[in-house]
Amino acid sequence: MSYDFDLFVIGAGSGGVRAARFSAGFGARVAVAESRYLGGTCVNVGCVPKKLLVYGAHFSEDFENAKSFGWTVGAPEFDWAHLIANKNQEISRLNGIYRKLLNDSGVTLMEGHARLRGPHEVEINGQVHTAEHIMIATGGWPQIPDIPGREHAITSNEAFFLKELPKRVVVVGGGYIAVEFASIFNGMGSDVTLMYRGELFLRGFDGGVREHLRDELTKHGMTLRFNTQIEQIDKRADGTLDLTLNDGTPFNTDCVFYATGRRPMLDNLGMETVNVELDDKGFIKVDDNYQTSEPSIIAIGDIIGRVQLTPVALAEGMAVARRLFKPEQYRPVDYRHIPTAVFSLPNIGTVGLTEEEAKKGGYDVQIFESRFRPMKLTLTDNQERTLMKLVVDAKTDRVLGCHMVGPDAGEIIQSMAIAIKAGATKQIFDDTIGVHPTAAEEFVTMRTVTR
Ligand code: FAD
Ligand code: NDP
Repeated sequence: MSYDFDLFVIGAGSGGVRAARFSAGFGARVAVAESRYLGGTCVNVGCVPKKLLVYGAHFSEDFENAKSFGWTVGAPEFDWAHLIANKNQEISRLNGIYRKLLNDSGVTLMEGHARLRGPHEVEINGQVHTAEHIMIATGGWPQIPDIPGREHAITSNEAFFLKELPKRVVVVGGGYIAVEFASIFNGMGSDVTLMYRGELFLRGFDGGVREHLRDELTKHGMTLRFNTQIEQIDKRADGTLDLTLNDGTPFNTDCVFYATGRRPMLDNLGMETVNVELDDKGFIKVDDNYQTSEPSIIAIGDIIGRVQLTPVALAEGMAVARRLFKPEQYRPVDYRHIPTAVFSLPNIGTVGLTEEEAKKGGYDVQIFESRFRPMKLTLTDNQERTLMKLVVDAKTDRVLGCHMVGPDAGEIIQSMAIAIKAGATKQIFDDTIGVHPTAAEEFVTMRTVTR
């Protein structure tokens, strides 16, 4: 049977665009459907605008620190609306770049909501198109727990377009988005309370890193309330929000921001017309080739619920494009040693095993740790401290994990990830000459075992 397209991609986000562009580049006839915004979550309501707001938030500290370097700075004023307008302009520019990338690579772009009509059929804007392969790359969507008054809360989707900076914000959750946005609002001058349901936020990260960030965020003036849950939200006539907390204490605030994870985006996708199995959390089940239980349907990115990061969605899109249309260049995605950063202030950068994971994995663990005040702050009153940590296997001398909390940790960890992926030993770290004076050189100068 002949189809209209070799590949029909639903969703022009990180994964979908990468798969579509490269497949077309390999000679396939490709269409991509997008219902909302080109570039998907990362470009429009994720990584990019978030990082711009993080940059913006850091200026409050910079103005303060500048005084110790001899600068006279007047009382700084911050205009949220101005920042949001500039951010929106930059995102529009990026949307245009994505449109051009797709056009230039020969992909047929269809703007509208796509719906499956069967294993080889997609309906969009009233027309049905056929394709040999269909890729679902529809990403995720923020979810708010089902509590009375949840309609008064916002998520990251709305936070990027708030008309005004809230004076008081409660951020709910203890993952990436919660600590990043808590840092953004705090840096901009809001009074921030972060509420997390467990003992300590950032579950799954290295214990030392979690404790260090807890202490730093507290020093930066944030209120952290662990073992805390909101049971109900009521809106007062003056527009402020009364929270009923699990411990019974009253709490009034201007804005409640939920960052409690993301659900798979399968809304009105026509999943009932195909035989695609879901896992127990509702994400699409795939095999090692991103193949679903419906032979013609592939799924990649956040919708498969593996690792919800843009570079991972890109790698998955690339792997599928190669497997289908350039098999001689195919390489499977290697999910080991994925580096990641949390762009809180200060940043977290991490790659490889945490101390807890290494111990649980039966390694004979040596920990090398360094805590210090960043040189840039030594002239200032700022008491922020950096943590750098290596987890080493004493038997083989291999560095199993590398963790940092401090300025530019996200930048620094990228290079450390190459060393760890290459299987570098602690001896190789020690033999590497440092770059002086930097914070990063600590990673090659830690000589004494801390634990
Ligand atoms: P998406 O990028 O979500 O793209 C899916 C696309 O499909 C969307 O454009 C959507 O409109 C479209 N779509 C959905 N349904 C349909 C339909 N039926 N028809 C047509 N189109 C449809 N990751 C990082 O690596 N670093 C970061 O710093 C980072 N920061 C983040 C900050 C925030 C606030 C959030 C929310 C996420 C962040 N992420 C970050 C995660 C990253 O954005 C995602 O992992 C990535 O975007 C996933 O790509 P994807 O292609 O799977 O889906
Ligand atoms: P995460 O999964 O990282 O964190 C969700 C948080 O919400 C956890 O602390 C979780 O607690 C808590 N939670 C979940 N359900 C409830 C509930 N019902 N009530 C109270 N708390 C709850 O999700 P995010 O929303 O922060 O981010 C989504 C994903 O996007 C991330 O996992 C990451 O992959 C990606 N991302 C990446 C970024 C980066 O690379 N810098 C930045 C932002 C997002 P518990 O731990 O107890 O389960």
